[in-house]
Amino acid sequence: NRPIVAVVGRPNVGKSTLFNKLAGKRISIVEDTPGVTRDRIFTEVEWLDKYFTLVDTGGIEPDSEDIILSQMRNQAMLAMDMAHVIIFVVDGKNGITAADREVSQILRKTKKPVILVANKIDSQSQYDNVYDFYELGLGTPVAISSANSMGLGDLLDEVVENF
Ligand code: GDP
Ligand code: MG
Repeated sequence: NRPIVAVVGRPNVGKSTLFNKLAGKRISIVEDTPGVTRDRIFTEVEWLDKYFTLVDTGGIEPDSEDIILSQMRNQAMLAMDMAHVIIFVVDGKNGITAADREVSQILRKTKKPVILVANKIDSQSQYDNVYDFYELGLGTPVAISSANSMGLGDLLDEVVENF
């Protein structure tokens, strides 16, 4: 019974790209096509001799801000229920949105560890974007670039520290 680590966050922040990088292969479908539906996907990850089950939450590609919000609320609730550690991914390029704030508010109430991840920090010059995310009240953001595989080791260190 391995610990469960759930990846949550709004559409297009790079959850599936991160999942695929950590899985080491392309299991999760990166949804370039609007309307693509799929279930949560699980994969086993090993880091420093520690094993965990990673869950990519996703699902129906939402077509309105209302649907995005209700889907994110459900994602956050599910994650708080079943996960040992929650990875909350935000878009380090586009900054904070209303949906990010709302999910942060939900996640701040859980006793489970929440790791705030600013994805799409593709180069050192974009690092300054990360400071904005402190205001979500979820601690120090971990800067990563899933696309360029940057920061993933630091993220995994923090994940397994919480087991
Ligand atoms: P999801 O909806 O949260 O699962 O996001 P996806 O993984 O499907 O990615 C959404 C889009 O962001 C895709 O076009 C990805 O190629 C892009 N993306 C993901 N990670 C990064 C990153 O680290 N840097 C940049 N520049 N783009 C990224
Ligand atoms: Mg996805």
